[in-house]
Amino acid sequence: MEGKRSNTRPLTLLRKIKGFTRSIVEDLARGRPPLIYIERFRNYCTDTSGNCSCSSGLSTGKEAISLKRECHARRLDVMLRVLLIVQQLLQENRHGSKRDIYYMHPTVFKEQSVVDRAINDICILLQCSRHNLNVAMAVTVTPLMLEQDIISVAQYVIVVEKESVFQRLANDQFCKRNRCIVITGRGYPDVPTRRFLRLLIDKLHLPVYGLVDCDPYGFDILTTYKFGSLQMAYDATFLRVSEIQWLGVFVQDCDNYSIPQQCLLPLTAEDKRKIEAMLPRCYLQREVPQWRFELELLLHKGVKFEIEALSVHSLTFLSHEYLPSKIHNGGLKILSLNQMILHQNRLKTPISLNS
Ligand SMILES: [Zn+2]
Repeated sequence: MEGKRSNTRPLTLLRKIKGFTRSIVEDLARGRPPLIYIERFRNYCTDTSGNCSCSSGLSTGKEAISLKRECHARRLDVMLRVLLIVQQLLQENRHGSKRDIYYMHPTVFKEQSVVDRAINDICILLQCSRHNLNVAMAVTVTPLMLEQDIISVAQYVIVVEKESVFQRLANDQFCKRNRCIVITGRGYPDVPTRRFLRLLIDKLHLPVYGLVDCDPYGFDILTTYKFGSLQMAYDATFLRVSEIQWLGVFVQDCDNYSIPQQCLLPLTAEDKRKIEAMLPRCYLQREVPQWRFELELLLHKGVKFEIEALSVHSLTFLSHEYLPSKIHNGGLKILSLNQMILHQNRLKTPISLNS
């Protein structure tokens, strides 16, 4: 299925679209209500037993869409309208963005998320990726670029959470001094950014490091790169960068790098709720238990801080001291069983959620 999805040609897709719409028309002509099955995908759950199949890329079941329910009829209506637009794009060999599609029928679609879901449904139905539909790949990564060879003298890639940190590194000429590639998704990364990063790693086979704020949002952004997002779970295989290593900033860094108390902020009740909600994610337990420990430690310490807090020492501290030392040490190390038990014992004191 993965191979089919990555190499689906326009003619094959057009044939699939014709077959799909014909089956609906035939059902209606025979007075039979159309029934469409859409496979469901999930990239994580909260089953900590390790017995789930979230990381396998396989469907976790099927959802039946019929005309009996009004919300399903509307979903099908939107899907068929988007499908017609996609068909035109493919026939004319043109590209459009999700936003372009939304503005073609704003009164029917009402909001962008309705179009986004229809595109997801169509990708699952036709077993293809979004770029095969000529949707939303026009700017950052064009299909043409996917065919190109990329050559670089870089030795590693750093993904930074924020544009302000990206600018800091650019001002310090970090890439020139260290032979690396720095990219940012400006917060939660969009699909083209994740696809571009996947492309870089596939072509260049370089180590890739993630630098995020020491707070629950930084952690969640890092997991989006590594494991994919829940909304795009069906496409996680093509977008996730499982190789990414967590470079920083960690809650222990406030001691290790002498960050003064004034630079630390207490976790809010919402931060704590977000951490509590992330801790049971099955992939943390199964694939990166040491990341889970870091998240527990963050909750235990009850403070957060931004990457920019390192500037308390000097503006260039991040690029001249912090990053080189972290890269030299290879990011977050895999903990041994003994270290994990030691950490767990340290965290045994009760954690208060009332702040
Ligand atoms: Zn799971």
